[in-house]
Amino acid sequence: MVNLRGPIDVLVVGGGNAGLCAAITAGRAGARVVLLESATKDFRAGNSRHTRDVRYMHKAATEYVTGPYTEEEFWQDLRQVTGGETNEVLARLTIRASEELGEWMPANGVRWQKPLRGTLHLTRTNLFMLGGGKAMMNAYYDTACRLGIGIAYESEVGELIIRNGAFQSARILRNGASQEISAKAIVVSAGGFEANIPWLKEYWGDAADNFIIRGTKHNQGRMLKELLKHGAKPVGDPRGCHAVALDARAPKFDGGIVTRLDSPPFGIVVNKHVKRFYDEGEDFWPKRYAIWGKLIADQPDQIAYSVIDAKALPHFMPSVFPPVKAHSIDELAIALDLDPARLSAAVNEFNNAARPGTFDPGNLDDCRTEGIEPPKSHWARRIDTPPFYGYPLRPGITFTYLGVTVNERAQVVMQDGRPATNIFAAGEIMAGNILGRGYLAGFGLTIGSVFGRIAGREAARHVGT
Ligand SMILES: Cc1cc2nc3c(=O)[nH]c(=O)nc-3n(C[C@H](O)[C@H](O)[C@H](O)COP(=O)(O)OP(=O)(O)OC[C@H]3O[C@@H](n4cnc5c(N)ncnc54)[C@H](O)[C@@H]3O)c2cc1C
Repeated sequence: MVNLRGPIDVLVVGGGNAGLCAAITAGRAGARVVLLESATKDFRAGNSRHTRDVRYMHKAATEYVTGPYTEEEFWQDLRQVTGGETNEVLARLTIRASEELGEWMPANGVRWQKPLRGTLHLTRTNLFMLGGGKAMMNAYYDTACRLGIGIAYESEVGELIIRNGAFQSARILRNGASQEISAKAIVVSAGGFEANIPWLKEYWGDAADNFIIRGTKHNQGRMLKELLKHGAKPVGDPRGCHAVALDARAPKFDGGIVTRLDSPPFGIVVNKHVKRFYDEGEDFWPKRYAIWGKLIADQPDQIAYSVIDAKALPHFMPSVFPPVKAHSIDELAIALDLDPARLSAAVNEFNNAARPGTFDPGNLDDCRTEGIEPPKSHWARRIDTPPFYGYPLRPGITFTYLGVTVNERAQVVMQDGRPATNIFAAGEIMAGNILGRGYLAGFGLTIGSVFGRIAGREAARHVGT
């Protein structure tokens, strides 16, 4: 039973990847650490338990990655996806520090595996966790327990007591009773506000009712709101988020990885009026998949349809739901509740525009369209081989980018530009410092792991351990 009344050096709020990295690091530095997690033990570890892989800088191939990934290439990839909307100092710090993760994670219980098929061209740049994020987080929790870190489940922090920019205590709701917990320093790693539909509606309007939340229902953004209320300097576009194309049949929360759809590059995507609306083959999927949620969010009724033929099926990891299957485009349209004449016309127009080329799913190939808007720049093969398949798509929100500004020590920066001496933030709640927009697959864990470790180290240093 965790003792919340005894002296606490470092209080960690949120038991996902960032929180555990912080807690373990502070614990190893000798601090008395308590971690508060709003979920039950079974549902602990937030969005982190749904992850599979982490992007990291490395100098050479290993048993688990196929080649080097340098700081410069990593930085250029990030610059490209963010369009330069990133804090270069923090971004480069993250990239450089990511090099240590290849050793730090296994030293704390994580095991790697070789990437499987259908893993988004990541075999060179990303490490895959054996057993995925669930096994990674179980290992971290075991390590934390061995280090004597106190963990309290079903303990949602509702309020932070902060005076003159210094943290004093946190008010939690536990076993139906309110309790105040004091600590010398706090690490806030409580995720974004992606599960808070009313808050999302402030920026997205009623469209947010049709969003599906891929991860935990517990990331309500209460800590983000508290920090902002106490004068933390916000960072990031409130509409900024990582959002993917999700199988529309997915559950509202916690569907995890198996409801994502990676079929768009291999066919066409149309909205409910059977209009294509974006270049499905613009770039490699790991650099584009995270914009598709927003693209669908901007369509009427936030619904879209991925249409492919039999040739495409082996090239992507399917969702857990079987595709809608038909022997003709007309039949497919009826099954998807689309106008058959319009879908046939859209497929014909696309097929006529597809130039002959050499299809290569592993490269930016020369299969492209000519004379249609929007174009399809790569992997544009005619949709002509039955059976035909379709998936209904919804925006699937992974995490939000609005967060608190931090410095290189993971301290929360206040509106007057000064860092709060004993308030640290890590993970989704500060990812917007580095991800102004766009996303690189596996980078959420990189940010959380690097800043979790920094926050843990600096919090322990602050309390003098
Ligand atoms: C389906 C899915 C797949 C993903 N795959 C990958 C991947 O392969 N690689 C990758 O890098 N990223 C991936 N991501 C993104 C990744 O999960 C996040 O970037 C990262 O895990 C965030 O870590 P975190 O610790 O900040 O947040 P979380 O892991 O979400 O942890 C936040 C925790 O805070 C708790 N909490 C919230 N509010 C409170 C409160 N008020 N009081 C107490 N506790 C609170 C929550 O219960 C939760 O456990 C994926 C996300 C999803 C949803």
